[in-house]
Amino acid sequence: MLAIIHSAALDGIEGKPIRVEVHVSSGLPAFNVVGQPDAACREARDRVRAALLSSGFAWPLQRITVNLAPGSVRKVGAGFDLPIAIGLLVATGVVAADCLGDCSLIGELGLDGSLRGVPGIVSMVDRAPTRAVLVPEAAGAEAALAGRRVRTASSLRQLVAALRGEEPWPAPPPPLAEGHLPAEPDLSDVRGQLYGRWAVEVAAAGGHHLLMVGPPGAGKTMLAERLPGLLPDLSDQEAMDTTRVWSAAAMLGEQASLIRRPPLRSPHHSASVASLVGGGAYRIRPGEISLAHNGVLLLDEMAEFPRAALDGLRQPLEEGWVTVCRARWVSRFPSRFLLVGATNPCPCGYGLSPGCCRCNPASKARYAQRLSGPLLDRFDLRVAIPKTDVADLMGIGAGDSSAVVARRVAKARRMARKRGVACNARIPVGALDEVAPLSSEAALHLTRRLDAGRLNPRGLHRVRRVARTLADLGEHFGPIREADVAAALGLRPDEDVLRGAA
Ligand SMILES: [Zn+2]
Repeated sequence: MLAIIHSAALDGIEGKPIRVEVHVSSGLPAFNVVGQPDAACREARDRVRAALLSSGFAWPLQRITVNLAPGSVRKVGAGFDLPIAIGLLVATGVVAADCLGDCSLIGELGLDGSLRGVPGIVSMVDRAPTRAVLVPEAAGAEAALAGRRVRTASSLRQLVAALRGEEPWPAPPPPLAEGHLPAEPDLSDVRGQLYGRWAVEVAAAGGHHLLMVGPPGAGKTMLAERLPGLLPDLSDQEAMDTTRVWSAAAMLGEQASLIRRPPLRSPHHSASVASLVGGGAYRIRPGEISLAHNGVLLLDEMAEFPRAALDGLRQPLEEGWVTVCRARWVSRFPSRFLLVGATNPCPCGYGLSPGCCRCNPASKARYAQRLSGPLLDRFDLRVAIPKTDVADLMGIGAGDSSAVVARRVAKARRMARKRGVACNARIPVGALDEVAPLSSEAALHLTRRLDAGRLNPRGLHRVRRVARTLADLGEHFGPIREADVAAALGLRPDEDVLRGAA
């Protein structure tokens, strides 16, 4: 009276193969789930019982023990409902043990016996220990993204009929269709702002984190929203990694397709730290910084974000991963994103224009404190975005379109890949002398800056990487010239300049 059904669990964004062992024996009626189940997993008893009765099957009045093995993996959520239900039907002889074949089961049961999708289908199907995987019909397209053989069913009754050979199997999900790509806003919509447009192009070409400081209505958000459209398509591996994160966050929807374009996430400053970096009371869910994996994370009004949220960005900015701890459990989520910050120079917003600031010194100092320190240091590019001239707004000429800029960006990214890095912002310090050697004038320029105490060693490396990107965009592939170093320094002015204090 023992049935063994294969399934899979989700840990972070990793799938883990699971054996669901269902044992039915004589004794006082009872139902126990062992093997590190969480609360939702233990509640399977009520859902499975109602689903079996609604589907016309009996609930065995016997002693039922369900073991989810291995015990070292934490089992979260309702995805084991389906393997438990089928395990019960096999153990009580309603379904023959061999008709399941080499197939894993994943899915939640509704009280009416319907099958429902669960978060993380892509990763779980990918790591299921069998050749085929059966998932709820609604999750069929998502499951097919893992490239495995997928079967679907919409209800427990339909599944049992197919297993017994009484009804044909429902049609498998259609072959993987490339989803339609969302329209991305075009850079030619931005009037004026030549410097801002250029900074966005440099950020895209080199993968440099960008901070834009300027008054409200200057177009900072508009520029930032056009940045993902300048980036090249994701590689197959990047597309799969980002898709797995979105699957774990249950954000792919029924028309799931691979995420081929760099995503843009722009959380509001009132968002909780957990929703930003990942977490949650029951299930550890990836946060906005992971949904932006291989894309762009835009923090609009960055100075308004709570300190804890901004501190939470440090580890992912360094390592491309974030570790989320909840009670005894730790999950790791990928989070390598291009960070774009946008902020006012001071609380009133007009600190950049001489004589226009209405802030009192104390509130201005508090604001300045938020906009300083280690986080600010991680921006390779920090640019002031002044209010657009009326003449520019009314002018008819538009700058280069996103397609034109994207071609220049793609060329610069190809150069970086030839050097063995994904983008210039990730050139290791040890490789700078080799891939971004300085001309003697450029070296002298930087030495003077260092001697004057206006550049620290970390800043020096960042300036050299940006100068490499500027040289690539200008198609100068020899030693870095002084002009590129000077321009890179100009894209990273001192903090007080950005606050309008200078
Ligand atoms: Zn002000």
